[in-house]
Amino acid sequence: MIAYRLTHPQRPPSLQEVPKPSVKPGEVLVKVAAAGVCHSDLHLAEWSADVLKAVAMSPPYTLGHECTGWIAELGNGPSYGLKEGDAIAVAGAWGCGYCRACRLSAETHCENLNKVGYSGGGLGRDGAMAEYELVPAARLILPLGKLDPHTAAPLTDAALTPYHAIKKALPLLVPGSVAVVIGVGGLGHMGVQLLKALAPAKVVALDISPEKLKFAREVGADETFPSDESSVKEIRDRLTRGQGAEVVLDFVGTDATIALAAKLARNLGQVTIVGLAGGHLHWGFGALPFDNQLTQPYWGTTVELMEVLALAEADHIKLHVESYPLKDAAMVYEKLKAGKIKGRAVLVP
Ligand code: NAD
Ligand code: ZN
Ligand code: ZN
Repeated sequence: MIAYRLTHPQRPPSLQEVPKPSVKPGEVLVKVAAAGVCHSDLHLAEWSADVLKAVAMSPPYTLGHECTGWIAELGNGPSYGLKEGDAIAVAGAWGCGYCRACRLSAETHCENLNKVGYSGGGLGRDGAMAEYELVPAARLILPLGKLDPHTAAPLTDAALTPYHAIKKALPLLVPGSVAVVIGVGGLGHMGVQLLKALAPAKVVALDISPEKLKFAREVGADETFPSDESSVKEIRDRLTRGQGAEVVLDFVGTDATIALAAKLARNLGQVTIVGLAGGHLHWGFGALPFDNQLTQPYWGTTVELMEVLALAEADHIKLHVESYPLKDAAMVYEKLKAGKIKGRAVLVP
């Protein structure tokens, strides 16, 4: 089968022929319906061998950490009522399944990643950008219910990651509060909707692209501004009586957006940096308002993914998906890099 693979650190991924995986006891073979195209893949294709090793993502492997499809084959072992042909989502972070973090379903924080040798499908071990994905355990498989496997894949990251970040911030998002989303791409367009679905806060979206600001309003943002100094005046002076926003979620993570996030924040609020663009905050007295918390969330738990799927099934959130054939993977990542994808792109094998 054809797969889109990262073969070496700091080299562009490419399409390659690989064998169809065979199933061992406990594993699940998934026939992929769609694999989400995440900006993180662009970052990790640029990381050095040392950085990749430190996060258990050393190549070679097939990319694709957002996966939905159908069960093709179940290895011997407990199957929890799953059966061939079921439409399912794959929880993308794969830990040992046994440590304290994994038992809390936070496999993102597995204590044994160095022994496991990978941190997820498409992240150190073969992922979903191929006809089949081999998943190491049935606990990582979640039924999709009435959701469509052709379009639901980004729920497993583009929605789960902002959900995890926003859930932690909910106590701050009381009526009259303001939440800011910086970057209305794959994660940001779900971030806007999740804020509206989960909290009574006013939602303000920032982006550098006018089309993305229009898109933000279409998916529910109350106000939108260009992502620059002018937004500080609008949000601080006009919307929050000089106080700043309770919660600022940065889905970009450059020096510029982190500095902007700090300027938009308020005392007792929260700045949440989700984007992995490698920016820095130069911390010192006054870098953030008093009693403001700076957090750096990572993805989400399997239980939170169950909650995200339930939210989507109940139509509280809706992905905007652009579908492309797997063979166009390189072109689709170029479009993503150029900011030309509206919502999330998925690759169809
Ligand atoms: P994306 O490319 O779909 O979206 C990025 C958006 O940011 C685009 O709309 C773009 O126009 C906008 N943008 C670019 N520069 C901007 C600026 N200076 N100000 C405001 N907006 C700007 O990317 P994505 O897939 O949504 O991922 C977003 C970031 O989140 C990436 O860095 C990705 O690696 C990271 N990420 C982190 C986690 C985590 O667990 N922490 C999980 C998934 C993705
Ligand atoms: Zn991702
Ligand atoms: Zn573990």
